[in-house]
Amino acid sequence: DVRVRFPPSPTGNLHVGNVRSALFNWAFARHFGGTMVLRVEDTDKARNTEDGLQNLLDSLSWLGLDPDEGPVQGGDYGPYIQSERTAIHTDVVERLLAADLAYRCFCTREEIEERETARPQGAPSGYDGHCRHLPADEVETKLRAHIPAVIRMRVRDDSIAFTDLVRGEVVFEGTHVPDYVIVRTNGEPLYTLVNPVDDALMRITHVLRGEDLLPSTPRQIVMYEALARLGIGSGRVPVFGHLPLVMGEGNRRLSKRDKGSGLLEYRQQGYLPEGLLNYLALLGWSIAEDRDVFSPDELAAAFDIRRVNPNPARFDPKKCEAINAAHIRLLPTPELTTRLMPYLVDAGVVADPPTPAQTELLAAATPLVQERINTLGDAVDLLAFLFVDDDALVISADAGLKPDAEPVLAAAEQAVATVEPFDHAAIEAALRAALVDGLGLKPRNAFGPVRAAVSGRRISPPLFESIELLGRESALTRIRAARA
Ligand code: GLU
Repeated sequence: DVRVRFPPSPTGNLHVGNVRSALFNWAFARHFGGTMVLRVEDTDKARNTEDGLQNLLDSLSWLGLDPDEGPVQGGDYGPYIQSERTAIHTDVVERLLAADLAYRCFCTREEIEERETARPQGAPSGYDGHCRHLPADEVETKLRAHIPAVIRMRVRDDSIAFTDLVRGEVVFEGTHVPDYVIVRTNGEPLYTLVNPVDDALMRITHVLRGEDLLPSTPRQIVMYEALARLGIGSGRVPVFGHLPLVMGEGNRRLSKRDKGSGLLEYRQQGYLPEGLLNYLALLGWSIAEDRDVFSPDELAAAFDIRRVNPNPARFDPKKCEAINAAHIRLLPTPELTTRLMPYLVDAGVVADPPTPAQTELLAAATPLVQERINTLGDAVDLLAFLFVDDDALVISADAGLKPDAEPVLAAAEQAVATVEPFDHAAIEAALRAALVDGLGLKPRNAFGPVRAAVSGRRISPPLFESIELLGRESALTRIRAARA
């Protein structure tokens, strides 16, 4: 049975690199009919934020990456909030100490650094194993004297090798992996302990995560082996797959501080979750050579972790937006209306909740923008003019409405007042007859002022359709106001 995990820290705004990890785990689990576990790694209290957990859960459900087991769903291997597992971790540490797989170390930071600088060049760096073989009575004496001690894992000296699903054979020399700290002097267990312990206890079979975590893998393998000797967990070391780094501007790793690195921005701008996920999947993976638009279900069906490219992947915001636009075009129009509405409500363009008339108007206007927007947020700007009261419409300075437009608007008013039936085809014919044929204007010069008058903008959805949606009264009121 495939069991994967997504173990984020609840730090507020998920990094898109982490979202990609979640996505690949989700796709891997779905592909094999396995289980995705959400484990909230909140033991580093300094990094947690107030509403971090809620934020995380909301983000995952917005993305549609709901786990099969986790703090909300429950499951057989809980609790799924790491800070609620302290008793489990303490017990494991006791057993590691009792079996001499871990040991107490009384070296101070200064002592360790001093010995490190005194070491010959080229010698392995890091902790030198000074306290590895302290006699038990000496340990007792020091503990009774309240000398602070960390707890370190005993790392074997031979090589630590594994077959990575993405990177192939990976070998670390044990001599270069120092005995690492698993519990601080204040008794706080570290990531090096709790992450692999929880993976083992939650029966995780595959660990798919960012390449930045590769250096921790040999340490964790040592931990899994120790746990197996103690009969903790399944007794098997999970299979690893380290996903390529995501690079931002200037070929640096996309960091939390970079614009475009946080999930919430995408939600605010009106990315479709399936659009964002589609793009994130392309960071290291592809579905086919001639195709880059696909649904999450298609991703899950086709996903093969062994086809992930180990080379760093560049995050391209333009491409991300283009993929999102493609998903907007693919949505059934009524579905797009439903997705647009919350953005119009949030922007204050429609009431909360929308009136039936506003809902109807948005449904009628959606086809006008479906081919024109890259994000749902784009539609707010384009459609707001349909929802404002006539007397609240502001004609923006760059709409290009000049005083010499008066004869154009006069003729347009006349045409709009009399056209029958009041639909976009008849409106177009009437305005062409009045402005292009009647006044001898080029279409651009003819329709630009009319567009400015009714929408307040230089760029709007198609003009004749817009006038039809506004209705005769409203269109006339706006044209008259622009003439005044
Ligand atoms: N809590 C760790 C992180 O968010 C988990 C890393 C892992 O996948 O092992 O970086």
